[in-house]
Amino acid sequence: MGVEDRAAEVYVALRDRGSVRAAAVELAGEVLEALLEFGAGEDDEEAREAYAVVRRILEEDLDEEEIREAAARLLKVTSFEPGFADAPERRAALEAAVEVVARDARVQGLTEPVTVRYDEPGEVEAHVCYAGSWHGQGLRAHDMDPESWLFGAADALQEAVMEKTWQVWPVCPDHELGLHLETVDSEDRRGPRADGAFWVCAGEGGHRVARVGALSEGRVE
Ligand SMILES: [Zn+2]
Repeated sequence: MGVEDRAAEVYVALRDRGSVRAAAVELAGEVLEALLEFGAGEDDEEAREAYAVVRRILEEDLDEEEIREAAARLLKVTSFEPGFADAPERRAALEAAVEVVARDARVQGLTEPVTVRYDEPGEVEAHVCYAGSWHGQGLRAHDMDPESWLFGAADALQEAVMEKTWQVWPVCPDHELGLHLETVDSEDRRGPRADGAFWVCAGEGGHRVARVGALSEGRVE
């Protein structure tokens, strides 16, 4: 087993609040081996953190709460992201976002099914498909807010639609130009409603057409 598989075991044990000790010790051993193999020195900040947490797990007498905390730090050190199979809440977040984005497809006359396909094994990546096709890199099961999932799902569906149909989607109802995605945070001075993922048109100096998922509702400003 490699670091990834061991890390997945630790993630699941933490998630289910099961005993994490055995998996954490195994993972710490793998990480230590990798550090030594790459000759990572303690002058590097990331390597120093990795050595520290590995030693804490392998050498100290930790109670259950301490080992959980150390195991979570160890996962961070390895930059581990679970697959969708191990992170059902992230899978649900993606699928909810895809459902919202699919409304924008239907409202502009795209009638084929919008679906999600997961890579095996472990469902590390997911593809948003139009009529069974996808294009580009898959989405990974990052820990993201709903707006970021919307952005990711919309971006992926846009690529899938273009790949399958050679049509531009979505299109601005006023200018008939293809729209692009933009994220606007609440700090933006263009108004308090400007928070989240938007479809934006380049026509007339640029304007926001709608939030992702709300194309049928028309312009926001
Ligand atoms: Zn426009």
